[in-house]
Amino acid sequence: MSTRAPTPVDTRTDPLPGSGDDGFFGIRLESIGGLGAHLAGKILAEAGVLRQGFNGAHFSSYGSEKKGTPVKSFVRFCPGDREVRTSSPIERPQVVAVFHEALTHSFDVAAGLTASGTLIMNTRSAPEQVREALGLRSGTVAVLDALGIAIEEKTRVNTAMLGAVARACPFLDPAVVKESIRASFSARYAHLVEANLRTFDRGYREVRSRTWPAEPGDPGRPVQRTAPAFGYLDAPIGGAILDVGNSIVKNLSTSRQGFLPAFDPDACTHCGICDIVCPDLCFVWSDEGDGQPAVRLLGIDYNYCKGCLKCVDACPTGALAELREEDGWAEAHRVPLFAWLDRERGDA
Ligand code: SF4
Ligand code: SF4
Repeated sequence: MSTRAPTPVDTRTDPLPGSGDDGFFGIRLESIGGLGAHLAGKILAEAGVLRQGFNGAHFSSYGSEKKGTPVKSFVRFCPGDREVRTSSPIERPQVVAVFHEALTHSFDVAAGLTASGTLIMNTRSAPEQVREALGLRSGTVAVLDALGIAIEEKTRVNTAMLGAVARACPFLDPAVVKESIRASFSARYAHLVEANLRTFDRGYREVRSRTWPAEPGDPGRPVQRTAPAFGYLDAPIGGAILDVGNSIVKNLSTSRQGFLPAFDPDACTHCGICDIVCPDLCFVWSDEGDGQPAVRLLGIDYNYCKGCLKCVDACPTGALAELREEDGWAEAHRVPLFAWLDRERGDA
């Protein structure tokens, strides 16, 4: 994306550049709890509505309000003379910003993106790789290493992603978004204001993008709407659960916020301290004797690891080390805790 001055817009009446058929410009933030997507959406909405004179709305949707669970944050903008009469999730966004790359393995993060829309991904991959991985046909793919920026600036990925979103929205003035960041952090976290403004600037500057023109008539990415499993006509009597679940089929990979423990078997004394502190029973042990201690640590099943790094802190020998997670690393180094489960699913 080239650096540019914001497109002049009469905020009272002009349709926003790139608005959808419904007259709104929609932004959807795809994230997990703990990365600050809700705050990012709120800052964007305050910048556009309170400081630039658009009308708009913002809300977030999340489940159990704990770190690591999926979060979606929605921001709508329209001219100031138009009322916002909807509070529904944004199904046809002009911009989607993905705060956590691993979410792409769980659901279609780009669902409903318009043919000329922009997908922004927190990743170290190139736009071409992201486009291929997601099977996108047209539109703009923008990438930035938001986690790397956040680590260097000692902030969170949300303000780096905000910089990239501001760059993708031709009507938003980055200086105004920065005012909104300052106002938001000043009240309770004044010591973090400057670092977050630097993070925003770097997100704005360092995002790289490539555009693939849309074919005429391209409807964009299909919308996905989750339908309830049962309705009032076919719900099981008495609320019985017929399709039982089990935590061993759950994959917690999206709960990790960019780091995981890497295991070095040569430095391990098989003391078991890591297993005691791990809240999710991720460690896989062998009981082959072989003249060695009867129980030996084989590795970690990263499907169950949420990246809390308690094991790294506890390991007395340095056999566990904090590692910045690359896409695919966990799958390549995972030791399955339930090998039979992988065989049943055809993963082994
Ligand atoms: S705490 Fe460290 S040394 Fe002990 S079993 Fe775990 S990895 Fe090995
Ligand atoms: S980081 Fe370590 S302690 Fe935390 S869930 Fe993963 S394996 Fe368990």
